Amino acid sequence: MKIDTIVVGPLQANCYIIYDEATLGAMVVDPGADSDLILGRLSEKGMRLERIICTHGHFDHIGAVSDLKKKTGAGIVLNREDLEIYQNADELASMWGYDFVQPPDPDMYVREGDTLSLGRNRFQVLHTPGHSPGGICLLTEGTVITGDTVFAGSIGRTDFYGGSLEAMKKSFIRVISLPDRTLILPGHGPRSTVGNEKETNFFMHEI
Ligand SMILES: [Zn+2]
Repeated sequence: MKIDTIVVGPLQANCYIIYDEATLGAMVVDPGADSDLILGRLSEKGMRLERIICTHGHFDHIGAVSDLKKKTGAGIVLNREDLEIYQNADELASMWGYDFVQPPDPDMYVREGDTLSLGRNRFQVLHTPGHSPGGICLLTEGTVITGDTVFAGSIGRTDFYGGSLEAMKKSFIRVISLPDRTLILPGHGPRSTVGNEKETNFFMHEI
């Protein structure tokens, strides 16, 4: 299994393309914009898109969902607690002055403890509210994709609709309780490790 990163859109979201070379199946996490880039990368590798996973419903993470769905038919995955935000993402996008195409409703809802498969690889769903009520992280062997929950050195904002500082504290603690060597792939900015965040993240002083 490999994970490629493409930085997409004006807010520079990290879109992760996860692919399994044995089965040629792929999942895309947080396709925030630039569907042509994402589709180009998939076809370059000869991959078939199986799932579109949204760590949460903010427009900068779902802006290419509509196009990917239309062109590949892949199932859209979200935590139901972010459905309202997802369905109203166009409002936030227009407030910020960005072009945005509202995606169709998800095909599948995931919650805490669910597992998603890609070939022989397993991804555990962690429900990590705080930045948004239905935010999720995806944990696979030695790697966690954290969406806008944990960034290198910081955390996602908790002042958007549905955000909660108290929930963020619990979610942050869950992430930094993973083994130190766990690779963190965040929704924006550079990657990190759990050990590194324990030493350097400003939010360690708030929990
Ligand atoms: Zn967000």
